[in-house]
Amino acid sequence: MITAYHRPKTLDEALTLLAQPNILPLGGGTLLSRPTSDSVEVADLQALGLDTLTKTGNTLELGASLTLQALLESEHFPPPLKTAIKLEAPLNIRNAATVAGTLVACDGRSTFAGMLLAMDAKITLNSKQSPEETLNIGDFLPLREQVRGKLITKIVIPLNVKLAFESVARTPTDKPIVCAALAQWNSGRTRLALGGYGKSPMLAMDGTETEGVDASSSDAVLRSAQTAARNAFHEATDEWASADYRMDVAATLAKRCLESLNQDQ
Ligand SMILES: Cc1cc2nc3c(=O)[nH]c(=O)nc-3n(C[C@H](O)[C@H](O)[C@H](O)COP(=O)(O)OP(=O)(O)OC[C@H]3O[C@@H](n4cnc5c(N)ncnc54)[C@H](O)[C@@H]3O)c2cc1C
Repeated sequence: MITAYHRPKTLDEALTLLAQPNILPLGGGTLLSRPTSDSVEVADLQALGLDTLTKTGNTLELGASLTLQALLESEHFPPPLKTAIKLEAPLNIRNAATVAGTLVACDGRSTFAGMLLAMDAKITLNSKQSPEETLNIGDFLPLREQVRGKLITKIVIPLNVKLAFESVARTPTDKPIVCAALAQWNSGRTRLALGGYGKSPMLAMDGTETEGVDASSSDAVLRSAQTAARNAFHEATDEWASADYRMDVAATLAKRCLESLNQDQ
């Protein structure tokens, strides 16, 4: 239950509030305003102007308070990322939920976090105690519990990547039981993230030419991606599906992702 509400007008004011124990940043509030037995104070971020979207060269900078729907409607956004955002939450939630709140609250079935993991998004954190720091999303996701007191101010994603997204769920709009997000850079670097299981999406492959995955050989990339996909879900059994099922589906989705990249070329 929210027991006190603060609305800081500057970043410095917000960081001063967040340095106190038991005050959490409030993004869209779709999760924080749910009834719970815990009492919590919130610092609402809406007056800080963090809802910006800026394209700079080959990167897109997402302000932490940008809503998922505003992002979805952006002209700069590649279609596979739009598909992932649509699956993240229905329209009413997307209108309120922010990109930062979604990453902090995500679980393994988050299609948005999975896509950002494939794209190797960079997360910028600010706090009163320490200077601004930037983490790769792969480092940020397992540390989410420990970033209390810190505020995400922006998320930066690359635009010079080819993207693909595939998922399997009970219905076309349901959260996935297995999903695969793939990003490929001109250099040949290929990142495959898998979702649909566990506490957060997982990085199955980050292959570069130097690591032996030569992007000029699409067969080699396909074999690596399928092996990586199967390995990542080795223990992925839960109430939704068995690990064996997920391993097979993940390998198939990885193949479909690569095929869709090749079709776009
Ligand atoms: C009907 C309904 C269905 C939902 N279904 C799902 C679901 O299926 N799967 C799922 O994962 N979630 C679900 N949610 C939860 C929630 O909608 C999403 O996780 C949402 O994207 C959270 O975004 P928000 O901006 O509303 O976050 P908030 O509720 O404002 O905050 C969520 C968390 O993020 C932190 N936070 C927010 N902004 C920042 C920031 N800038 N820096 C650091 N920390 C920050 C908050 O302190 C809090 O801990 C659902 C919610 C509702 C109401």
